[in-house]
Amino acid sequence: MHKEIITKPRFNELAANTIHKFWVDLVANGIGQDIHIPIIVAKGAHPGPTLGVTAVVHGNELNGLSVVQRLMSQIETEELSGTIVAVPVMNVPSILRHERRFPDQEDLNRIFPGKPDGNESNIYAHRLMDRIISQLDYLIDLHTASFGRVNSYYIRADMSDPITKKMALLQDAEIILDAPGKDGTLRSAAMDIGVKAITVEVGDPNKFQKGMIRSGLGGIFNVLNDLKMIPGNIDKSELSSIMCPSSKWIYSDKGGILEVFPQVVDIVEEGEEIAVVRNVFGEKTKTYYAPYKGVVIGKHVHPINQTGGRIIHLGRLD
Ligand SMILES: [Zn+2]
Repeated sequence: MHKEIITKPRFNELAANTIHKFWVDLVANGIGQDIHIPIIVAKGAHPGPTLGVTAVVHGNELNGLSVVQRLMSQIETEELSGTIVAVPVMNVPSILRHERRFPDQEDLNRIFPGKPDGNESNIYAHRLMDRIISQLDYLIDLHTASFGRVNSYYIRADMSDPITKKMALLQDAEIILDAPGKDGTLRSAAMDIGVKAITVEVGDPNKFQKGMIRSGLGGIFNVLNDLKMIPGNIDKSELSSIMCPSSKWIYSDKGGILEVFPQVVDIVEEGEEIAVVRNVFGEKTKTYYAPYKGVVIGKHVHPINQTGGRIIHLGRLD
């Protein structure tokens, strides 16, 4: 099962009607061992666009890894028009450490497109862009909530772009959050170089969740159908996604034991009680209220809350 190592793969030069599995050489660690990125490329029998599906940009966000593996096990290259470039793990150093952040403590998904002559995380991000992302036409980047939090099944996409808007709607997500502008994410850096990209948030960190993995997979198949890369029909529920033009995290200004009341996807009214903080003796020290009517995109579930900890990620509803 030995796999070839390639420094600069050219996806358009790979043999057609074949699934290719190989490593991309990216950087070397502190004792000079090469760090390789695993790649699965399904090269269709017929011409068509190149869709990338990337996972584990944050090292503890694992559902996408399983989504990628299942996707690529179900692709029949004789029926495929174009190319699917699947990266089951983008952030190899961090997945091995079970950590969200890169070993230099940068958040990789805030520094894209990186820099060719930058620090450790910057050069890593730059080479991912240069060697993989720059060859794509479309990108679906799979994430989850962070440690101590849970998320709805939601999408971040620039809804002013008709193509990314359509890709977002095809995910059949609970919530779609409009995300225009540059924010250092892989999604926004890809958009900047003309790769139509969305972020799909599939559930919670540090585990595989079957339901979320199925949802993420369904959305990717819908995009493949819509792009006419595979035959078949789009499979969408009757329910429409809740649209949010913006959102913000609400933080605590009082440390203590935190209890957050609404569940993800719940709608809260302005002024509704959303959380309480108690001291360690059980006495209530602070109550939090929704600052506006919104939908709960994600929430903090870890009860130990230092002053400044997160409470809920509230999408704005008009
Ligand atoms: Zn993430």
